[in-house]
Amino acid sequence: MNNMNRNTARKLLAVFAHPDDETFICGGTLAKYAAEGADITLVSATRGEMGRRMGNPPYLNRETIAAAREHELREACDCLGIRELIFLDIRDKTVEFTDEESLTARIEDLIRDINPDAVLTFHERLGGHPDHCAIGKATKAAFSRAGRKDGLYYISFGDMMAVPERFGYTRSDIVKINVSEHLEAKLAAFRAHRCQSEIDEWVWLPDAEALARFGMHEYFIKTELAAPLVNDDDLFQSEDSGAVFAFES
Ligand SMILES: [Zn+2]
Repeated sequence: MNNMNRNTARKLLAVFAHPDDETFICGGTLAKYAAEGADITLVSATRGEMGRRMGNPPYLNRETIAAAREHELREACDCLGIRELIFLDIRDKTVEFTDEESLTARIEDLIRDINPDAVLTFHERLGGHPDHCAIGKATKAAFSRAGRKDGLYYISFGDMMAVPERFGYTRSDIVKINVSEHLEAKLAAFRAHRCQSEIDEWVWLPDAEALARFGMHEYFIKTELAAPLVNDDDLFQSEDSGAVFAFES
């Protein structure tokens, strides 16, 4: 945290499914906003204990992997500057089978408590994994039930939203964040997720070679509920610090 007053810092809430989603998909953006003083809370629905990557060569098992991944996620949060980490304690690979009403209610409570200026989650159709789609669907419902319209974004993989028309979107729906100044933090977080990333040889190349593998931008999709984007290169649409609404709880 820099010298910005915590009370006036912009707040970002990321609601994802597994340890590593935050780093592998949008680590540059999280590092960028943290470096600019944003107060970031990460919610991970699971501890990723059903992951097929068990280290390379494998040194984890189904009993030890949850604690290892939690530990790695905490280290990755430190690398990215994420201030708070919350687990929903859902079993990995079962988010889609969790009671939707109670999951939505839990996320709605978090949104009301934190009152974030921007919320990130998965797209309910383009999430790429059933857990991702399920947490995205619940977060979208929770956001709406908390009375919010603006400030919810879906994360997207790599450069897929460089051509949003392929997925039924237009450029006016897309926020494109330049993360070029924050790739070192992203790489450090990749390496913190060691049991997942150590099979990927490029991650462990000398820094300059590994950094060259990253794209310079990360892309986010505005939800259909939100007003047209004012800024297409910033998740915070208002120049004001602090939240737009004050919620009674
Ligand atoms: Zn995931």
